[in-house]
Amino acid sequence: MNPHQQAVHQLEQVASLLKDHYKDSPEFKRAINQLKYPDRVIEGEIEVKMDDNSTKKFTAFRSQHNNARGPYKGGIRFHPGVTKEEVLALSTWMTWKCAVTNIPYGGSKGGVIVDPKKLSNVELEKLSRAYVQFIADYIGPWVDVPAPDVNTTPQIMAWMVDAYEDYLKENNRPLQENPLATFTGKPLNLGGSSGRTEATGLGGFFVLEKLVEKLGLTRKQDVTIAIQGFGNVGYWFAYHAHKAGYKVVSVSDSKGGIFVEAGLDPVKTLECKQKHGHLSECFCVDGKCDISGGKSITNEELLELEVDILVPAALENIITKDNASQIKAKAIIEMANGPTTPEADQILADKGIILVPDVLANAGGVTVSYFEWAQNLQGYYWTKKEVVAKLQPLMEDAFEQMWQMKENKQVSGRMATYMTAVKRVVDTMILRGI
Ligand code: GLU
Repeated sequence: MNPHQQAVHQLEQVASLLKDHYKDSPEFKRAINQLKYPDRVIEGEIEVKMDDNSTKKFTAFRSQHNNARGPYKGGIRFHPGVTKEEVLALSTWMTWKCAVTNIPYGGSKGGVIVDPKKLSNVELEKLSRAYVQFIADYIGPWVDVPAPDVNTTPQIMAWMVDAYEDYLKENNRPLQENPLATFTGKPLNLGGSSGRTEATGLGGFFVLEKLVEKLGLTRKQDVTIAIQGFGNVGYWFAYHAHKAGYKVVSVSDSKGGIFVEAGLDPVKTLECKQKHGHLSECFCVDGKCDISGGKSITNEELLELEVDILVPAALENIITKDNASQIKAKAIIEMANGPTTPEADQILADKGIILVPDVLANAGGVTVSYFEWAQNLQGYYWTKKEVVAKLQPLMEDAFEQMWQMKENKQVSGRMATYMTAVKRVVDTMILRGI
């Protein structure tokens, strides 16, 4: 199954659970059918003049899935593994994600097939600007609001804002279109929101706190956590979990992972990774790194560790039918988008492993994007304390709703979350006459 087929499969599963509620009405069926495919997919080649004066073409996409509840919203991914099906799936998941936390957006996603690590900074800037030219006619604060995703940063968002402003001027379109509110995840000095960088990880941490409470794991220092992926999301999740007293025993990057039985120090571990370019042998505990303090493990071994909480925080399709039966964690918090295949979902459910799905667990990022957009539109900025104080109840309420639904309907965490999200979107579509 490719990721889009996966997304459609999940929608069909949830539709069968919601069918009775809607008395299988024609409107319901129409809405579900419409939600299987995006409203619009923009696809093409973008050209970049490389440092050696050659011209290179990159395939680019923007998928706008659904905007019944508000403007399309979703990040842009720069990765060699991007495919059209992946972008379609990710845009579908954004629709559910925004509905889960009840923020007034639909869902979209963009992607470029490129390995940004092979580009110079100048080439990366040109690619980012060229991507904006490619989608400029289809975005705007009330149309579609892009943001960072895998390998796209606040700096890239800054170039994109600037390129969009140039585009508006070139096309005699008024700047009232508010270029700042057209992108989120921007740097603080260019309309960014306090707390946006760490928002996804912090939102996941609020989910962790609720989950351990439900699981009755009362002594934080005994709760062990393994995190696959140590990018922005994995790092900030680890940071907050460690700060609160949980034991983060393992983290990994694309090259491999480390296991530190005593619980690792995420800040020192990141410093070590930045110094060496990779995580291996960054065994850092209590502010000190010691080569004998842990052991190197593979990404596969990390997934199979005997920990309380497993956190996939990298890419899709990490937990599959081939490794799901080896997973020993009590619960999984999906901080990556789409890390678990449907076959694996079933295996995990049969094993009684609780799963908090991506569209809930990692919704903190887009939620603070929403706060950023709201601040840009009103030109009035909030303190980090205000941002966190608004994020926390949103994440906690979304988790609580999922839990209630899961208990009442005796369904998995994913189905419980999807039932709430899909219902919100379908109800709005029916109100609008679809
Ligand atoms: N790329 C992030 C996600 O998948 C953030 C999207 C946004 O802020 O619009 O949720």
